[in-house]
Amino acid sequence: MSLILNSVISLGAMGLLFGSGLAYASKKFAVEVDPRVEAINEALPGANCGGCGYPGCGGLSNAIVAGEAPVNGCPVGGAETTAKIAEIMGQTAQEGEKTVAKVICNGTCNNAKEKSEYYGINDCRAAALVSGGSKSCQYGCLGLGTCVNVCQFGAITIKDGIANIDKDKCVSCGKCLEVCPKSVIDWVPYSQEVVVECNSEEFGKDVKSKCAVGCIGCGMCAKACPFGAITMEGKLAKIDYTKCTQCMVCTAKCPTKAISGELSKRKKAVIEEDKCVGCTICAKKCPVEAIEGELKQKHSVIEDKCIGCGECAKKCPKDAIKMK
Ligand code: SF4
Ligand code: SF4
Repeated sequence: MSLILNSVISLGAMGLLFGSGLAYASKKFAVEVDPRVEAINEALPGANCGGCGYPGCGGLSNAIVAGEAPVNGCPVGGAETTAKIAEIMGQTAQEGEKTVAKVICNGTCNNAKEKSEYYGINDCRAAALVSGGSKSCQYGCLGLGTCVNVCQFGAITIKDGIANIDKDKCVSCGKCLEVCPKSVIDWVPYSQEVVVECNSEEFGKDVKSKCAVGCIGCGMCAKACPFGAITMEGKLAKIDYTKCTQCMVCTAKCPTKAISGELSKRKKAVIEEDKCVGCTICAKKCPVEAIEGELKQKHSVIEDKCIGCGECAKKCPKDAIKMK
């Protein structure tokens, strides 16, 4: 009986001792967690996609609080998440246009020639290891969908032999850019419709023999652009999206239709007569002389000449021009 009593007392004493020790240690060695980390974690979507470059949402929360990542570091959450995180961090969120991934190749089954047949596993990286893939253009999209498989947001589909990205579903995580063995996916501003859809670095003659819609490096677009938005980088035309007004002059000029943009959707300037004071600023700013009117008289737009660049609307001091 006394043996049982002794055991209970000694076990109880040991329990009390270890319990107090653990309670003391948890207080003494506790790691302080910044409450902002938890708040940011809650604000993040919890997708843990790694698109921010950190190991999951927790990694990004820590990095933001440590000042190592920006408040808009989450590509999935969008503006709403950025605003919440900025508030937690006591900052003002920078509003900017979303940048999305875009396949810069239009080498569809009809447009691009095949040089061989590929019978290996359905993966662009594997296919690229076999003489660069089956397409005769070594710079084009192989269309086997390695980007489709890696996109967690269902934004990519294969259509007519090439990958297509739905810009409304793209969260800019960059996973597709990482896996594409042809580096044929690039970042483009969300509203950018005018894009050189070619990635080839070959001479025009070779491009032409392989693809009906490739950039042949003739430079006609660069010469025609009224805003100096196109430069020739090697044999390929490149658009500076910060300068491009989407006037589509290049789209119309390009002899091989390598530049996207639907001319039928081009906007036109419309002058609201009741607001126009005839200052002539719009006529002076229009790069294609599409505005007519006398000083102190109502001005009007010559619709056939207007390229929809919006330069007049930007400069009108009376806000009398709308792009429609
Ligand atoms: S006009 Fe067309 S083919 Fe010529 S350089 Fe520009 S994009 Fe290339
Ligand atoms: S759309 Fe107009 S502004 Fe933009 S690159 Fe083409 S020609 Fe230049």
